[in-house]
Amino acid sequence: MLPVIALVGRPNVGKSTLFNRLTRTRDALVADFPGLTRDRKYGQAKYEGYEFIVVDTGGIDGSEEGIESEMAQQSLLAIEEADVVLFLVDARAGLTSADQAIAEHLRKQQKKSFVVANKIDGIDADIATAEFYQLALGEVHQIAAAHGRGVTQLLEYTLTPILAEMNPQQEALDEDDEALLDIYDDEGKELDEEVVQDFSDKPIKLAIVGRPNVGKSTLTNRILGEERVIVYDMPGTTRDSIYIPMTRNEREYILIDTAGVRKRKKVSDVVEKFSVIKTLQAIEDANVVLIVVDAREGISDQDLSLIGFALNAGRSIVMAVNKWDGLDEYVKERIKSELDRRLGFIDFARIHFISALHGTGVGHLFESVDEAYDSATRRVSTAMLRRIMDMAQADHQPPLVGGRRVKLKYAHAGGYNPPRFVIHGNQVHDLPDSYKRYLMNYYRKALNIMGTPIKIEFREGD
Ligand code: GDP
Ligand code: GDP
Repeated sequence: MLPVIALVGRPNVGKSTLFNRLTRTRDALVADFPGLTRDRKYGQAKYEGYEFIVVDTGGIDGSEEGIESEMAQQSLLAIEEADVVLFLVDARAGLTSADQAIAEHLRKQQKKSFVVANKIDGIDADIATAEFYQLALGEVHQIAAAHGRGVTQLLEYTLTPILAEMNPQQEALDEDDEALLDIYDDEGKELDEEVVQDFSDKPIKLAIVGRPNVGKSTLTNRILGEERVIVYDMPGTTRDSIYIPMTRNEREYILIDTAGVRKRKKVSDVVEKFSVIKTLQAIEDANVVLIVVDAREGISDQDLSLIGFALNAGRSIVMAVNKWDGLDEYVKERIKSELDRRLGFIDFARIHFISALHGTGVGHLFESVDEAYDSATRRVSTAMLRRIMDMAQADHQPPLVGGRRVKLKYAHAGGYNPPRFVIHGNQVHDLPDSYKRYLMNYYRKALNIMGTPIKIEFREGD
């Protein structure tokens, strides 16, 4: 689970600036779901080794009725969903009554909240920030979001304890991963049966995600209905998905249900039926992400954002275009050509045209889910990776750079889920993107890898 940080504060204190700085390293991918979540912006953040989800809330104006008003509603929801709240104030503007109102709300919430005084560049920070201690939320952290000053220290201070609390076994897991990777190191050696067995015995975690009303619940019910599995009533907050174990053709899965199959009658559940945080956490926790879109709506920017999140997280992807029933041939053709155009960047993902309502095509989804999982977790020997590299190089040699030919010398695996291949050679950092893409596609074809992204890492030297 990734920790969630919410940025709150008055307009103009620098929330967007901090948001952009934090998400920058991952292509600033932002899921903006207007209308659903009222301007909350969600980003995957990877900053100085810290990974988390960051939510920008647009701003609480803090006037007496403002804090309770519709305008502030999105901030209040973001605070509720977050593990940590960074409450930004403007060190140049000084303390305002709006800041006081926000602080009072945060104190009542008993959330882990930190006061962050922004814009300390070019001023005497200690003097300017002293008055914010009156907010009675403890230490006042000084940053200049525009310049990145103090940001790493802030994350270290606020996130380290949360991470330790959330993932106590993380270190042990990392060691396990190392052990799994060891099997790659001996060139051409037989795979370690025991280790491989251990991995393939695990159930496939399949997250079913998509915008509201695309048919996620209908699909989940259809899958479960056909398999007659027992759904255990699992407690959870609005942030948690329901995890449903199931068996199909003797293979085990855990469905990560973001829609809430057991739609409860309570009003609050209906309101929070769609939660971006829930969706992002589900993607993060899954092996394979089944992204459901509505054929009648086409691919929206929100769909692309979700796909982007899955891709950035390195997850396997299967696309389900739902509500394929009752469309005439002309419309179907038009939808298909639009999909080809907009989904070119995930050409490795299988696309299924289904009707969750009638059950058409639903069974075949699992063929692609299995294929994607098997591709993502498959072990490939060093000898094989090297042979494919040599073949690719022989078919189409790397270009000359500065009069010298780039030379690929050696390849080995660097991980799985998604598969990572490491290629060593001379001047590899000068390889043009077109050649990198060529190599990637060559590996994909040679190893028949479908459904999962592939990462190739280049290292200078032997
Ligand atoms: P938001 O409304 O809270 O999202 O605020 P913005 O991020 O849009 O920032 C408001 C203004 O403050 C912009 O003009 C920023 O350039 C400026 N700003 C943000 N961070 C800093 C900073 O660290 N130092 C200075 N001097 N200005 C900043
Ligand atoms: P969710 O919000 O993504 O969980 O979507 P639901 O499963 O609640 O479905 C939203 C609406 O779309 C409901 O009225 C469903 O009956 C309808 N729906 C779902 N799947 C299909 C389908 O395959 N074909 C058609 N025509 N309607 C569907």
